[in-house]
Amino acid sequence: MKKEMTIVYRYNTNLYINLTNRCSSSCVFCLRQTRDRMDDSGSLWLEHEPTFEEVKQALLNVNMDEYDEVVFCGFGEPTEAFDVLLQVADFIKEKWNKPTRLNTNGQGNLINGRDITPDLKGRIDTVSISLNNPDPVKYQEIVRSIYGVESFDAMLQFAKSAGKYVGKVILSTVDTTISHEEEEECRKICEELGVTYRIRAYEE
Ligand code: SF4
Repeated sequence: MKKEMTIVYRYNTNLYINLTNRCSSSCVFCLRQTRDRMDDSGSLWLEHEPTFEEVKQALLNVNMDEYDEVVFCGFGEPTEAFDVLLQVADFIKEKWNKPTRLNTNGQGNLINGRDITPDLKGRIDTVSISLNNPDPVKYQEIVRSIYGVESFDAMLQFAKSAGKYVGKVILSTVDTTISHEEEEECRKICEELGVTYRIRAYEE
């Protein structure tokens, strides 16, 4: 596998930040299993995890006016590198005040051993989490978290708590991967949590 220092890359109209290759899950659908990049990003397998200074320099090398949103999402779970994430989010807000999004598996509190959601306030505008399935056992069969089936409730709790500190929390499933009945269950879960439910289009 080819490793490079692809710290930032374009995807559609947004700028993505690739902080880490560590992840507490091993999702059956993870793109890392079938590709090493997104479009012409360069390999997203990192030679090493970037420091804050390295991410800062990578951001200063792009024209931020070309992007609508800055997204923490790459070939790993961003909250695995939470300290760097916070510094980077502060830098983005101070220098450009761009909208920011965290794409996460929702296991950040388990990973960091504490409730990290208050730290998102003022730094992250949108949190997007893959709900995958309304059933905890089926969820775990899909995401294969190191934390086991408990990761489902922890992920929901993370979403609920995050809603207190960020403008928008989205839980999503992928179109055609679950039944309409299961989608209705997901919708109810989201209503109870006070977060947005989104069905994403299936992508190869
Ligand atoms: S949470 Fe994301 S990076 Fe981690 S295994 Fe799942 S899809 Fe891949």
